[in-house]
Amino acid sequence: DSRRSAADIQQILELFETVCRRHEDHLGQIDAVAGDGDHGQGMVLGSSGAAEAGRRALQRGAGARTLLVHAGTAWSESAGGTSGALWGAALTAAAAALSDEQGTDDAQAVQALVAAVDALGRLGGASEGDKTMMDAAVPFAQTLEQEYQRCQELFASVSAAAVRAKAAAEQTAEMSARLGRARVLGEKSLGTPDPGAVSFALLMEALGDHLGA
Ligand code: ADP
Ligand code: MG
Ligand code: MG
Repeated sequence: DSRRSAADIQQILELFETVCRRHEDHLGQIDAVAGDGDHGQGMVLGSSGAAEAGRRALQRGAGARTLLVHAGTAWSESAGGTSGALWGAALTAAAAALSDEQGTDDAQAVQALVAAVDALGRLGGASEGDKTMMDAAVPFAQTLEQEYQRCQELFASVSAAAVRAKAAAEQTAEMSARLGRARVLGEKSLGTPDPGAVSFALLMEALGDHLGA
């Protein structure tokens, strides 16, 4: 039912906060190479703000969709920064694929994830090759859709997509940045992966593990 679904979403938000805290220093360090070094902090502020908003929504008896809308708004407000606005928009877009009244089935979960990645692209205007989180998010969404069509299994599909996202995030080390703050120091980022791509892959890996647990 809808309670089950909202509680599941909340567990995922709590998980995201845990993962962001665990990797805060590393994400800050790779952002400092060609950016302003605040990506770890931004992800912790955003994910903890989202988790907090989710807890409050759950207490009020909110359904999955409403909970995720509140979480998305809180993520962008708490994080500030480019990635905060993008993650907030992603959560809000994912919410639109969910229902407040019914539980979330696997097909809806896939739709929600694909909608989230579409929202990142729409808001940020970045394409693959610009050295942003899109370099992990686009292959993630592609693999997710392909795998789900093939096996109709959410856990297997998200896991495969997360593996692809992780490899793609690592490959951004070979690119120089063209967008965001890092554009000024684009060449400096050669040899270091894009922080937003790395954090995206970390969160999707955690999501895959959660679905399999
Ligand atoms: P800020 O750049 O405001 O300090 P963060 O450090 O939190 O924000 O996030 C930086 C990350 O945001 C980059 O590593 C990149 O992945 C992502 N990013 C920046 N601009 C864009 C964009 N236009 N589209 C998609 N992602 C972007
Ligand atoms: Mg930054
Ligand atoms: Mg910043």
